[in-house]
Amino acid sequence: MYRIGQGIDFHKLVEGREFWLGGILIPHSKGALGHSDADVLLHAICDALLGAVSLGDIGQHFPDTDAAYKGIDSKVLLQKTYQLVGEKGYTLVNIDSTILLQAPKIRKYVDDMRAAIAGILNIPVDDISIKATTTEQLSFIGREEGIVATANVLLQKAS
Ligand code: MG
Repeated sequence: MYRIGQGIDFHKLVEGREFWLGGILIPHSKGALGHSDADVLLHAICDALLGAVSLGDIGQHFPDTDAAYKGIDSKVLLQKTYQLVGEKGYTLVNIDSTILLQAPKIRKYVDDMRAAIAGILNIPVDDISIKATTTEQLSFIGREEGIVATANVLLQKAS
């Protein structure tokens, strides 16, 4: 009846890249480096969804060696991923996620991220939780060299 999934993703932060996070563009001097738009939160959610239905991981479905996915909007990847979940007969109950990032402060962007994700997954904003923490200047995150996101999802069998 119910299945849970978890996902985690890491990306480097570099100058000269747009900073896409949670489906929105955030003004910042650095952006996440990757083959796609490098949206670390959406990638973690994709992996959590795939994990919940035992369908492998995002790298298997959307390989970073495939030119088709170069620069792709991760909202498209999330939509395709959720389609796979639907084909397995499940719908999403809720998401709980955490972003680990030293700067910028992202609390003021969280509601826009939740709205973007809710729109793709067709669930109420209230069923999407996005938390954020710094690492108190510790590690590559604290040095502003990278960003990490984790996500947990609960799915239920579609009626
Ligand atoms: Mg990624």
